Formats: sequence, C-alpha cells, structure tokens
Amino acid sequence: MTPERRLHTDTDDGMLLIISGPSGVGKTTITRGVERAISDSVFSVSATTRDKTDADVEGVDYRFVSDERFDELVESDALLEWAGVFGRRYGTPRAWVDEQLARGRLVILEIDVEGAKQVKARMPDAFGLFVLPPSEDVLLERLRSRRRESEELIQKRFSEAKREIREAHECGAYDAFVTNDDLDRAIGEALEHVRTARGRRRGESVS
Ligand code: ADP
Ligand code: 5GP
Repeated sequence: MTPERRLHTDTDDGMLLIISGPSGVGKTTITRGVERAISDSVFSVSATTRDKTDADVEGVDYRFVSDERFDELVESDALLEWAGVFGRRYGTPRAWVDEQLARGRLVILEIDVEGAKQVKARMPDAFGLFVLPPSEDVLLERLRSRRRESEELIQKRFSEAKREIREAHECGAYDAFVTNDDLDRAIGEALEHVRTARGRRRGESVS
C-alpha cells in the first residue's frame, strides 16, 4: 500500500465517490441530492475546455479553461485524472481533492468512465457508482428536456451513452449501479450505498 492511499482513506472518514452515467441520465440531479443529504460532502469542480453554456456557472459547475491552460494542468500533473469527452477535455484537480479527503470529507467526482478507471487504478478505495437510465427512450427524452444543445449533438451524446453503459459493466470500475427511474428512490439508493461503504471503511480503519 502506498503512503498516498493510507493518508486518504485508512486514517479518516475521507472517501472519494465517483458518479458516472451517460449524459442526461440524471447524474447532476442525483449528485445535488447526495450533497444535500450528506453534510460533509463536497463536489469537485472539474476543469474543462468545453464551451460554457447559459446553464453553466463558472467555478460552480466547471472551471472553463483554454486548451493551453489544460495542457499546463496535464504537464504539471495537477490533475488526478482527465479524459477527452465529445472532443473536449475534462479533468479533476488533484490538490483540492487531496485536501478535502485529508479533512475527512466525502468528495464527489462526476466524471466519465475513462476518468473513473484512472481514479480506481490510483485509489482503489474510491467508490464507483454508475447511474443507468430506465430505458433508452427515457434517456433520449431527458437529453432533449435539458434544452441546451442541438438535436445533432443530442444524437451524438445518445449513441455515446449506449457505448458507455456497455463499457461501465465490463470495466470493473463500478461498485454499484443505480437505475434513475423515480428520482427520490434513486437518490435514496445512492445514499444507502455511500453510507454502507463509508461505514465499512470506518469499521476497517479502527480494527
Ligand atoms: P446529467 O447530469 O446526467 O447530464 P441531469 O441531472 O442534468 O443529467 O438530468 C437531465 C434531465 O433529466 C434534467 O432535465 C433533469 O431534471 C431530468 N431528470 C433527472 N432525473 C430524473 C428522473 N428520475 N425523472 C425524470 N426526470 C429526471
Ligand atoms: P457535460 O459536458 O455534459 O457537463 O459533461 C460531459 C461528460 O464529461 C459527462 O459524462 C461528465 O461526467 C464528464 N466529466 C465531467 N467532468 C469530468 C472530469 O473532470 N473528468 C472526466 N474524466 N470526465 C468528466
């Protein structure tokens, strides 16, 4: 075991929670529900090179950066993980995550499957949760309901979603799968998984 892992998860309550799922499945909605229910949870604001939409708040949803700035973050190893999604790059700031974990917080990463695999390889104690749509039709409906992009982009996200769901089942990065049909039930299930995993870790760290 590396000293990094000991610091993060074995001596305190800090836990990394990865929440993934296809675009439009309800990750952000579920994440906000988890944040409201768990008082010491914090959301990791990713850096991205994608364009800001009217629905995005700088520093709350993302830190919007140039390609050059993202290159610098990668080169200086400032990112815990990063991946290219729909031709744009997204990454998790490592120093902030480390600091929050050391304070014993539940740190929520809303990241894609590629990123989840990188995090699990570096920090196997991270808990991976993948959100599934009740059906493909419902997913398409939700993507449209966000009213934030063209039909062409929606179709692109929809076909990527189907590939991502297959990959999530096969890659081994996820500890639990939650179907987002009824929202309150999905948030309840997510909370149960998180509390159980955290409780188990606490039990292990005192034994
Ligand atoms: P993601 O973050 O995965 O892209 P969002 O959280 O933005 O998805 O949700 C996409 C859309 O689906 C939003 O309009 C949201 O209000 C809606 N939504 C989320 N969960 C549910 C649900 N269980 N039932 C119906 N609509 C939902
Ligand atoms: P969106 O542009 O819809 O906000 O996000 C598109 C995709 O990028 C989603 O699947 C989301 O989970 C993923 N994503 C957001 N931030 C990060 C990140 O920091 N790292 C990785 N690997 N994926 C991210």
